[in-house]
Amino acid sequence: MSSSTLPKANFRDTLATADQTGKRKWVYPKKQSGRFTISREIVGYSLLAFLFAAPFIKVGGYPLLLINILERKFVIFGTVFFPQDMYILVLIFLSFLAFIILFTVVYGRVFCGWACPQTIFLELVFRKIEYLIEGDYMKQKALDKAEWTWEKIWKKTLKHSVFFAIAVLIANVFLSYIIGIEKLYQIITSPTSQNIGGFASMMAFSGAFYFVFAKFREQVCAIACPYGRLQGVMLDRESIVVAYDYKRGEPRGKMRKGEERKIGDCIDCAQCVHVCPAGIDIRNGTQLECINCTLCIDACDEIMDKISKPRGLIRYASIDGIEKGTKFHFNTRRIAYSVVLLALLSVAGGLLFTRGKIDATLLRAQGTTFQKLENGNISNLYNIKIINKSHDERTIHLRLISPENGTIKMIGDSQQAQKNELRLSSEGIAESSLFIEFPKSALKGIHTKVEIGLYQGEELMKTLDTKFVAPN
Ligand code: SF4
Ligand code: SF4
Repeated sequence: MSSSTLPKANFRDTLATADQTGKRKWVYPKKQSGRFTISREIVGYSLLAFLFAAPFIKVGGYPLLLINILERKFVIFGTVFFPQDMYILVLIFLSFLAFIILFTVVYGRVFCGWACPQTIFLELVFRKIEYLIEGDYMKQKALDKAEWTWEKIWKKTLKHSVFFAIAVLIANVFLSYIIGIEKLYQIITSPTSQNIGGFASMMAFSGAFYFVFAKFREQVCAIACPYGRLQGVMLDRESIVVAYDYKRGEPRGKMRKGEERKIGDCIDCAQCVHVCPAGIDIRNGTQLECINCTLCIDACDEIMDKISKPRGLIRYASIDGIEKGTKFHFNTRRIAYSVVLLALLSVAGGLLFTRGKIDATLLRAQGTTFQKLENGNISNLYNIKIINKSHDERTIHLRLISPENGTIKMIGDSQQAQKNELRLSSEGIAESSLFIEFPKSALKGIHTKVEIGLYQGEELMKTLDTKFVAPN
C-alpha cells in the first residue's frame, strides 16, 4: 500500500506546467461533471449571454456599456461620462478595486472560478469544443502523439477553424464595447478597403483571442494575470478557498477490496489531479495556479460517493477552518476593507446621483482686466464653455444672480446672442464670449464675487462663480 504525508516539500520549486528544461507541459484535463460544475455552467453561460446581448441593449438611446478610450467617452448603464466626469469614473474604478480586494480576502478566488471571462471562455466554450471534436483527455493525448493521419488532420483543422471563428466573434463583441455596435456594423458591412484600420484591429484582436484560448490557456492565470499574481498578498489563513482536508485525507493510500481502512480517506486515485485545468495537485495545499474552478471538488465527491465516505474531502474551506476547525468570522482586515468599500461606494453613488446634465466653465478672457465705460460702469470680458451631458437638445439662458444690478452682454449679432442664450446639440459643446457690466456702486473693491445662473426655461441647471475685477 502506498501512503504518504503532506506536504510534499518541493512542489513550490517547480511550475506544474513546465518540465525540468522549462518546456511547456500541455495540460489535458479530464472531463468532469457534478453539482459545482453544473452551477458554474449556469452562471457562466448566463454571463456569456449577457456579454453578447449587452451591446444591443440601449438605455435612453445609449448603450448599456461603452468604453470608448479613443474618443474618451464612457457610458455605464446608459449614463454618459465625459472627460470632465473622469473623477467619478476613477472613484467607481477604485470602489471596484476595493470590492475585488475585499471579496478576495473573504472568499478567495471565487471570481476566477465563477465569473472570470478567461475561465468562462476557456472552460465553457473552447474546452467543450475540444472534447466534442477530439474526445476526452486520453483521446486528446493519443491524438497529439499520433502521426499525421487523415483523422488527425481533419480533427485539428476543424478544431482550430472553429476556435478561430469564435475568436473573431469574441473580438467583434469586444470591439462593440469600445466603438459601439453601430460603428462595428458599419465596419463589418463596408468594403475592407474603406476600413483598413478597423479591419486590422479586428484581426489583431481575433489573433490575440485565438492565441490565448488555443495556445496560452492556463498560463494566462499563472503568468500574465495581475489579479492572479496578487493572490499571495490578498489571501490569508481565513480566506475561503478550494482546499484539501489533509487532516481527514492523510495518510493517503490505495483502497484494497475487503481490507479494513486504517488510514486517511484519500484513496490516492488522482482524479482531482486528472481534472485540474491548471495541472496542479490540490493536495499539496493552496497554490498560485489554482483558479478555484471546483472541478477537483466534484471529482473527489464522486469518489467519496463510490467508497461510501462523506463528501467534502476537497471543499470550500479556509486553512484555519481545516487546521483548527475555526468558523468564518469578520476579522479586523475584513472590517477595515468593508468600511473603505462602503465609503467609496457612497461617495461614487452620491456623485453619480447628483451629477448635472450640463457642465460649464466661465473664465475671464486671458490678458484682460477691466474696461471703464462711458456711462461710468465697469465691464469684464469672459469666455464661457457649456457641455451637454445628455442626448436632449437644450437652449441655455444666462442670467446674473449676484450682484443683481449688473448686465450680461453676449458677443455676437445672432438672435440667440442678443438673448444671452446658447444652443446645445445632443452631447454638444457651445462656446461664447461675453461682457459682464456693473455700476461701480455694486462692486466691493478690486475683486467682487459674481454668480451666474444657467437656466433652461425656468429651471436653474447650474450656477457658475467667477471674480469680477475693478479699479480700486
Ligand atoms: S480525488 Fe479525492 S480521493 Fe482521489 S486523490 Fe484526490 S483527494 Fe484523494
Ligand atoms: S486545484 Fe481544483 S479548484 Fe484549483 S484549478 Fe485545479 S481543479 Fe480547479
